[in-house]
Amino acid sequence: MTEITLLVTENQVNSLIRSTRKNLPNESCSLLLGDIVDREYRVKILKEMNNIANSEYSFNIDPDELMKVYQWASKEQLNLIGIYHSHLEGSKPSATDLTYMRINPVIWLIYELSESIFRAYILVDDNLKEVKIKFSTG
Ligand SMILES: [Zn+2]
Repeated sequence: MTEITLLVTENQVNSLIRSTRKNLPNESCSLLLGDIVDREYRVKILKEMNNIANSEYSFNIDPDELMKVYQWASKEQLNLIGIYHSHLEGSKPSATDLTYMRINPVIWLIYELSESIFRAYILVDDNLKEVKIKFSTG
C-alpha cells in the first residue's frame, strides 16, 4: 500500500503563507481543491475562507460560504481534498481539530508560524497519520 502524499506547488505554499500573515494574529483557513490520483492528493486551487471565529486558537468557516465553494468545486469537477489552517505555535492538530477531522476526513494541512513549517495529517480508522508533503515547482 503506497503512502498518502499531498502535492502542493511552491506558489500555493507562498500564497498560503501570505494569506496567513495577512490574517495575523488570527488563525487563517483555506480549502484545498483538487484531485486524488492513486494516493496522491494534488492541490489545484486554494480557496481562502474567512475565519468567522476571529480567533488566534481556532477557526470556523461559515456554512453558507462553504456550501458555495462545494457547489463551485463540483461544477469545476474538483474535490475538496484538504483543509488548511495556521497555528501560531505547534503543528499538531488540537483536540478541536481532531473532532472536526472526524467530520471532515480529508487531509488537514497545518502551518506553524513560530517554526515556519507545514505538516499534514489524515485520520485513518480514527488514527492520526502524518501525510508526506511533496513540494513541486510551479
Ligand atoms: Zn488547529
